[in-house]
Amino acid sequence: MFDKHSADVVVVGGGIIGLTIARALRLRGVRDICLIERAALGSEASFAAAGMLLPQVEAATKGDFFTLACRSRDAYASFAAALHDETGIDVELDTTGTLYLALNDEDQEEIEKGYYFQRRDGLAVELLSAAAARALEPCISSSTLGALLFPRDIQVENRRLLSALANSVNNLGVTVLTGTNVESLIVERNCLTGVQTNRGAISCATAVVAAGTWSSFIKHTHPRIEPIRGQLVCLEAKPRLTRHIVFSRRGYLVPRRDGRLLAGSTSEEAGFAKNVTAGGISKILQNAHEISPAISDLPIVDTWAGLRPRSPDGLPVLGPCVEINGLFYATGHYRNGILLAPITGELISEAIVEGVTSPLLAPFSPERFLPNSVASVE
Ligand SMILES: Cc1cc2nc3c(=O)[nH]c(=O)nc-3n(C[C@H](O)[C@H](O)[C@H](O)COP(=O)(O)OP(=O)(O)OC[C@H]3O[C@@H](n4cnc5c(N)ncnc54)[C@H](O)[C@@H]3O)c2cc1C
Repeated sequence: MFDKHSADVVVVGGGIIGLTIARALRLRGVRDICLIERAALGSEASFAAAGMLLPQVEAATKGDFFTLACRSRDAYASFAAALHDETGIDVELDTTGTLYLALNDEDQEEIEKGYYFQRRDGLAVELLSAAAARALEPCISSSTLGALLFPRDIQVENRRLLSALANSVNNLGVTVLTGTNVESLIVERNCLTGVQTNRGAISCATAVVAAGTWSSFIKHTHPRIEPIRGQLVCLEAKPRLTRHIVFSRRGYLVPRRDGRLLAGSTSEEAGFAKNVTAGGISKILQNAHEISPAISDLPIVDTWAGLRPRSPDGLPVLGPCVEINGLFYATGHYRNGILLAPITGELISEAIVEGVTSPLLAPFSPERFLPNSVASVE
């Protein structure tokens, strides 16, 4: 049992999404917020991620998701600056940009398609010859046929970001209960009245489910969230091998300021197993080597895996639950939870405090997973 018996808002899950929402609620004036985390803050997918903020790189068309993702990326500069002011932690927002390589004819066709759609829409992208790409990043493969440069698709050091957010919510007076599992929502006549944890109940009229890939284990939640495992290899490149994120259709390299070089990733349906595998690591290294043969000489300093939370249509689940008053979802961020954190915090806190659901959220409503829903996302 614990001392806390009630709160204005309970946030379930202490990953990047739960932490960002708890902070945003506090900044909007909610006084009594309780963040409940089963294990330790920021220890799951948000810790495992590569920190890329790339709405443009993989976009095939414009649409609701693209709009949301670009808005969130563009909020990062002020998000990072505010966290630095609040906590003194530099989240290493690196604005060098991303180089997307074409390493065979099919890749070249794909990047040219992407280029023309984004140019038509006035987005920041440049089509580079192989020589121009190599002038920017001499380490890239001699098989490079061409590349796109996305100057606004950038990266953040997600582990530093988690530390900054944990410090921020602490400074702001959010109650944080770690080592506490939310087992069930408590619902009376279609209204939320509290949450039941393994250490006792907490009464509240509002709760946000931000429990990542484990969201569906909480009794009375409805969207089905599944784990998609992603493995990463951490190399060490001192001096740095590349300044840009270097991306291909099969893999990526993300250079950190301290010389770590992340190589990713896999996308696997492996249940809740978070181990790395020989097959996964070997595939990642093969794809990284295709991008830059120079990785062959680098030491491997770490490997890990995390579970991306995926909804049935692969899009996030954001907003109020129409069946249970007081319940909000912020889950299913799949491959883009770091990217989508600022906009998720802003819009979910607005929906709770102002009672206004932004039109930006409408396409991602949990309602689309209710039986007979006609909601759809572009
Ligand atoms: C290898 C890899 C690379 C990635 N790279 C990127 C990237 O470059 N850019 C990007 O934007 N995204 C990336 N992602 C995706 C990103 O990591 C996720 O979308 C994001 O972390 C989801 O955040 P979250 O807070 O919802 O989930 P999590 O970080 O998993 O947090 C959920 C938290 O809820 C807690 N919890 C669960 N159930 C309960 C309960 N019942 N009670 C209390 N607490 C509970 C968990 O312990 C956990 O701490 C990557 C993911 C992986 C695995």
